[in-house]
Amino acid sequence: MNAIRHDFRSDTVTRPTSAMRAAMAEAEVGDDVFGDDPSVNRLEQRMAGLLGKAAAMFVPSGTMSNLLALMSHCGRGDEFIAGQNAHCYKYEAGGAAVLGSIQPQPIAHRPDGTMDPREVEGAIKAGDIHFATTRVIALENTFGGRVLPVEYMHEIAGIARRHGLGLHLDGARAFNACVALGMEISDFTSPFDTVSICLSKGLGAPIGSVLVGRADLIEIARRNRKMLGGGMRQAGILAAAGLYAVENHVARLAEDHQRARRLAEGLAQHKALKVVMPDTNILWIEAEAELGDRLGHYLGEHGVGISGRYGQQRWVTHLDVTDEDVDGALALVDRFFAN
Ligand SMILES: *Cc1c(COP(=O)(O)O)cnc(C)c1O
Repeated sequence: MNAIRHDFRSDTVTRPTSAMRAAMAEAEVGDDVFGDDPSVNRLEQRMAGLLGKAAAMFVPSGTMSNLLALMSHCGRGDEFIAGQNAHCYKYEAGGAAVLGSIQPQPIAHRPDGTMDPREVEGAIKAGDIHFATTRVIALENTFGGRVLPVEYMHEIAGIARRHGLGLHLDGARAFNACVALGMEISDFTSPFDTVSICLSKGLGAPIGSVLVGRADLIEIARRNRKMLGGGMRQAGILAAAGLYAVENHVARLAEDHQRARRLAEGLAQHKALKVVMPDTNILWIEAEAELGDRLGHYLGEHGVGISGRYGQQRWVTHLDVTDEDVDGALALVDRFFAN
């Protein structure tokens, strides 16, 4: 594969802008394990305020953030309910089980990405010594770039409340959902006890996530973050990048969504590609496996990076994808099919 010049593999590939680097260079710092880093404190206060929650904590990754949330809700031998394809179940190397001694109860997704609320409720274990104790339900939104309905989140929240369970949102791309919906992030996250937000995806920060939520849960997470080795010292240089991202890169997510739609419309011109119209910045296309592999290879040879295999391809737009990148990629796909 040649060097990637147009990178649609993921919104994690963004590099800090010069203005963001300037904010990092100028950041006031201190030892955050002592609670002394003003930039980290500022980011945490800002995120708690934005989401309308009592507390927030800066963490190195979304994976650690989700794990810490589950460990705040659950003790050893407890259980969490999550979708079969949820990041916190399927894509975190079994961390909840390995490091938290927490058992997952995965639930199948319906074609629209939601879980059937009756199935979720049916999976909650009764108080019986045979069972692990169910403590929390975890939702994810956006889910593979799709915006799941707000009413769905409230319906699941109702189930959690009726059964005295916690509710966690893996909101790695929650800002994308809110921009797409035209909704305040505090309204979007209001039903949840804990919310994890990634700064290092479409928002364009180099590193970091924030776990936001109830003060008692964040307090437990702070101890466990230290235990997991996630206590960072002069982390303000990273928090400053995150704060810059939250202040400057949220509204512009709409551009990423527009570019994803334009890509989708262009790709849909080719009958061999089955294109799902994107809600946000992640576009999925399907092709017959051999054709999909050939297309992926061809694009790679010409400096366009996409992800996926076996005919399912993922195109992601982000801060470092321009209109020219979209035009260039579409022209290349046209050329591939013209040959
Ligand atoms: C990326 C992502 C995470 C994990 O974030 P990392 O910083 O890569 O560990 C969690 N959940 C979702 C939905 C994600 O997309």
